[in-house]
Amino acid sequence: GVKVGVLAIQGDVREHRRMLEALGVEVVEVRLPQHLEGLAGLIVPGGESTTIGMLTREYGLEESVRARVQAGSLAIWGTCAGAIWLAKHIPQFPDQPRLGCLDITVQRNGYGRQVDSFETDLHIEGFDRPFPAFFIRAPRILAVGEGVEVLASFEGSPVLVRSGKIWASTFHPELGEDPRVHEKFVEECKTVGA
Ligand code: GLN
Repeated sequence: GVKVGVLAIQGDVREHRRMLEALGVEVVEVRLPQHLEGLAGLIVPGGESTTIGMLTREYGLEESVRARVQAGSLAIWGTCAGAIWLAKHIPQFPDQPRLGCLDITVQRNGYGRQVDSFETDLHIEGFDRPFPAFFIRAPRILAVGEGVEVLASFEGSPVLVRSGKIWASTFHPELGEDPRVHEKFVEECKTVGA
């Protein structure tokens, strides 16, 4: 079977693990570069993107993940803070440490302070019924580069995007009971090395 890692430095690791395990996927918690061995995919959870950025750099994970993603040997999906970590452009914080492999422009806490957190039903490309999505101090995707596909939008901004095997969602699909986005990402992981 396919093995998928969850970056386990900070954030909602357990919720992603639970979703993947319910799908029968073997899960590895990734804290060090050697934990990437044999993984087809990696989920970067929500949390605090500055912390994730600093610690992954310190542990040598940023470099090893980048090498695998660029070689096409690792599918990756960033949720919320994880999506910020993947983003090429953060105009507010251009020097924030990150992977930067996905050509999107993000604004941190892009939905305003009053509406900190909310839930909404999304229409996701290829899904036959709405998906319940949780947004928590979510970033807003302001622009996507060439080759970035938008799979779902909310209030005119993309909220689920992909560029090949690099995926980002600004919401938290791991917090509800609906496994369909995880299922779709696991399908992507199965194409790695195929
Ligand atoms: N606001 C956080 C950040 O900018 C992200 C929030 C989240 O991951 N739930 O890093």
